[in-house]
Amino acid sequence: MSTVLERPLDVVADFPAIPAGWAYLDTAATAQKPKPVIDAIARGYGETYATVHRGVYARSADMTIAYEAARRRVAAFLGAASADEIVFVRGATEGINLVAQCWAATQLKAGDRILLSQLEHHANIVPWQMAAQRVGAAIDVCPLTADGRIDLDAAEAMLTPAHKLVSLAHVSNVLGSILDVHRAVEIAHRVGAKILIDGCQAVPRLPVDVTALNCDFYVFSGHKLYGPTGIGVLWGRAELLDRMPPWQGGGAMIDRVSFERTTYAAPPARFEAGTPHIVGALGLHAAIDYVDAIGLSRIHAHEAALVANAREALRGINSVRLLGPDDSAGIVSFAVGGVHPHDVGTILDEAHVAIRAGHHCAQPLMAALGVEATARASFGVYNGPQDIEALVDGVRRVTRIFG
Ligand code: PMP
Repeated sequence: MSTVLERPLDVVADFPAIPAGWAYLDTAATAQKPKPVIDAIARGYGETYATVHRGVYARSADMTIAYEAARRRVAAFLGAASADEIVFVRGATEGINLVAQCWAATQLKAGDRILLSQLEHHANIVPWQMAAQRVGAAIDVCPLTADGRIDLDAAEAMLTPAHKLVSLAHVSNVLGSILDVHRAVEIAHRVGAKILIDGCQAVPRLPVDVTALNCDFYVFSGHKLYGPTGIGVLWGRAELLDRMPPWQGGGAMIDRVSFERTTYAAPPARFEAGTPHIVGALGLHAAIDYVDAIGLSRIHAHEAALVANAREALRGINSVRLLGPDDSAGIVSFAVGGVHPHDVGTILDEAHVAIRAGHHCAQPLMAALGVEATARASFGVYNGPQDIEALVDGVRRVTRIFG
């Protein structure tokens, strides 16, 4: 391998669920959890547990402080102007659905258009289809460049004043291609459209600053950022959130309730009906501290070196077709000629290499690539050269087995 990991991260010991000799290459699906996150969750339930926002006793007041500290931590992590712009949701899927319901409810009308891209995850397609169907809006699909990036020249040519919203992945969960968010924002805003960025795969591997990016909404899931499942984030510009109606009614989202008339709380509470995932927020706080202590620029450099090594080694195997650009962020999709990706995944599993095989919740992208499914190796902070070697040895074994 010619690309050297110059300053390899050596943090696998922080991850108790990764046994020696197991190459976990499915971080794009969900990341393993470091000890500080597991400890924060254990402490949250085992030592400091109580509800938030309601209790008059000290334990509940302390938990409320911790829960709101997590919100401020997320705001700082994303470069948000205020913690009030951070809505806790279950994950990216819920964040996109929230915008597709609440923003679209007042801002989208018949004849309006939404621009998505060919590589979007189903979570960034289906909610918009549902929103568009409700009001009679239409969806346009931006094509990809030959190497699997969202073609922003094409997007620019497609956008018209009828477009009210653009929604794009910051990093593709299949190809790892990185969006030029600055340019995407610029061309969306030029026609007066708002832009949502699906940051699910970006936040664990690139520094993100929503103020510098100048986008309108940004979503991500905690579990892909080494945090717990069941907690994620919607960031929205304060003036947009302020104008959005709530989507779920219940406790915590109200100002005053009577049978005659109910008024709503200001954001973010307006969008957080019910008892929230309290300990999830504490776990997410610990995950952000963990990732920040390593440094996202270092994580990105580490994963870029792993990607370069993996692509170079896989390219050396005749029957392997690599998908996506060479500078993909932490994710390498590939096909082995004549072998179904599920068979690739099964044989790799026998060699203790865990990859994902399937359509990756991106069936329109599979159609554009002309495949039913791909094999996907995705990296995290805990991976090292030994994992690439195990992957490549395993793929060689696949080619031997299938002749
Ligand atoms: N968008 C992208 C790009 C993703 O990779 C994923 C998860 N695979 C999602 C959205 C949905 O995330 P979740 O299932 O955590 O809501």
